[in-house]
Order: sequence, then C-alpha cells, then structure tokens
Amino acid sequence: MLNIGQLAQTGLLKKYGTDEIIFHQGDPGHEMFILLKGRVRLLAHSTDGTDIPFMDVNAGDFFGEMSLLENAPRSATVQALDDCMVIVINETNFESIIAQQPALALRIMKGMSKRIRQINEELAQLKGEINSEEGSEPEHKVDTPATSSIQNISDLVPEGHGSYPDIAPPSDAEYLFEKEIDCPVCGQKFTTTMVRSSKLKLKGVDSDLRQTFEGFNSLWYMVWVCPHCFYANFNFEFKKVDPNMRQWVTSQTERMKATGFKYSHPRRLDEVFMAFYLALNCLQNNKPDASRIAKIWLRLSWLYADAHDEAMYKYASQKALEYFSEAYYNTHRNTSVEQDQRLTLLLAELNLRTDHPEEALKHYRNSIVRKGGSAILNRQAEDKIQELKELLH
Ligand SMILES: [Zn+2]
Repeated sequence: MLNIGQLAQTGLLKKYGTDEIIFHQGDPGHEMFILLKGRVRLLAHSTDGTDIPFMDVNAGDFFGEMSLLENAPRSATVQALDDCMVIVINETNFESIIAQQPALALRIMKGMSKRIRQINEELAQLKGEINSEEGSEPEHKVDTPATSSIQNISDLVPEGHGSYPDIAPPSDAEYLFEKEIDCPVCGQKFTTTMVRSSKLKLKGVDSDLRQTFEGFNSLWYMVWVCPHCFYANFNFEFKKVDPNMRQWVTSQTERMKATGFKYSHPRRLDEVFMAFYLALNCLQNNKPDASRIAKIWLRLSWLYADAHDEAMYKYASQKALEYFSEAYYNTHRNTSVEQDQRLTLLLAELNLRTDHPEEALKHYRNSIVRKGGSAILNRQAEDKIQELKELLH
C-alpha cells in the first residue's frame, strides 16, 4: 500500500475542478500525478483534430510518469471528470519518494513495462501510422499516458492483444438495467448489468452463428464478473459452477485481484476483452471443458473483428476451431441432429476463416443430413459448397 500521508508531505498537493484540463497533449512535462480523489479522462488527438477519450483513471492510480522519467512531451490531454485532488511529483522530490516508497516504484515499473509497447502501437494507430511489422519500434519515445485501472494483464491475454479504446455508445443504456445477484462461487452479492432482451430486435444470424441486433452489440454485456472473487462467466451459464470450478476460481482470486478489473460506466472495449479473458482463465482448471472454451474464443474472434484487429481475429478463430474440433471429435455429445449440423457448419466456417478451404469443404459436405436434418441448413451448406468449388478451381 502507498503511504499517502507521507506522499502529501513530500509532493505538492493540487486541486482541479470538474472539466478542468490538467495538461494538454504536447505540453512539456516534468511531473507525474497521483490521483488521490476523483476521476480523470485521457484524450488523444485523432487525425481529424478531435480529441478521442481513450482511458479513465480512478483515484489511487497515477498518470504522466513517463514525462517525469524521460522528459518527453505529454502524449495525451488529461481532463478532470469531477473534483480531483492530486499529488504532483517532480524531478526534485521523485528520488526521495521512490526511496521511501518502494511499493510505488514497483507499481510504476510494472505498469509501464507492459504498457509502453501497447501504447506506442495505439498512438501510432491514432495518428494513422499503423505499423504492424513485428519487432519494429517507433523512432521516438512517447509518454506513457497512464497506468490504467486494469493492470498487469499481460499473462492473461495472448501476445498480440492490443489496446482497444472504444467506449460503449450512450444509446446502450436503454437496453440495460442493473440487478443484484448472488455469486455462485463466493456467495456474496453484487450488482451486474443485464440486457433487456425484450428491447432487442434481431438483425440477423451470421454464418458463424453470431446473432446481431439493431443498434446494440450484446457481446459487450455477455460476461459477468464477480467483483469479490473474480469469477467470470457468460451470463447464460453463470450459475453453472461445479466444485472443481469453485476450487479453481478461489485459488485464482488473489491473482485476478491484481488485474484491478472493474467495468466502467459506460464500459470500455478493453474491459470487455478482459472480462472474456477472466472467464477463459476460470475454465482453465483441472477439467477444462473444450466446448465452453471454444465458445469464448469464438466470441473473442467477433470482438476482434469489430475492433478491426485482423491478426487477432484469425488467432481467436484458430483457437475456436481447435477447441470446437476437440469437442466435436473427442467428447461424447448428446445433441440433436440439427445441433450437430450447426456445429459441423461452424467447423466448416472456422476452417474457411483460418485458410483451410479443403477442410471447410469436407465439413460442409458432412453437415448435409438428408433424413431428419434441417432443410435450411442443408441449403446453406450446399450454397457454400458451390461457392467454395468455384473458388478452389
Ligand atoms: Zn464471487
């Protein structure tokens, strides 16, 4: 824990009112800020000159540390969202503070090392200079805007997972409501955001079974996370917990706590991804269930597709394919003919996406069931086979 009293004596205490700008992007900076009270928002210039919010920082976290360490200009504008109180740490008092507060030094280092690369990429993208080549670094160093409230997640997310600044649109609110539920793992109560299904208007179902709705992305609200024990799962199977899972989640709670995971209002895409990876971690227990893991990867592939992250979209599709294949070939299934057809079609689709057209063709053919099969699904497979044949020749 940080000793705030001691910091207040060493640093300089400052107050900012709602909407006040703490500093502007491009300003020279020689201090870092520890937020004692309130919330601030980080904004970055986009190519069209508008400021895009990309991160909120909550009390207890800090921002601007790279300017202090490297004298780099500010890479973001920081605005107070409500009445804020900060400690300003400058070059003069920094060393003595680090000496007195090793915990702070450790937090800064941990927060920075994992994020510098990620933030460089994000800024490059914002500036329209997407440089996706592996191993290449931007030529100039940039300020690390902040340590997000979600920290040290790198061992939960795969390599290549980036930073996704999207924020849920205000129109989402009309589809949502809050409800208190009991966590099936730790037994404590918490409030979760639920979707008003009655308000949803189905727009269509994609060939990989994704349902889309008019004006609302239900994917963002699919994973619930208990803020006490960090048990995370799909809303539709949240109560599906066996003793094995309960034991595993309990053993992981301390580790997951370190992520500082919490959904913001409105929620951010980074948090949505994180919730899915928390759910994935909950399933990596002694008895991993391939079909449940596959469902998470499939949805992650949709999220990456929405975020236009082509490489991660392929990666997640490949993972979904691996786990659905495992579920398909290695486990006893108790499913109807139609469910079987759908799974086979999904395998075909995932093979197609991950550049295995021959495999895809095989699965499309297998999905056709003349007796007892769905005529609609049969036709869907036949159309795909026709398309593929033309493509392959
Ligand atoms: Zn819990």
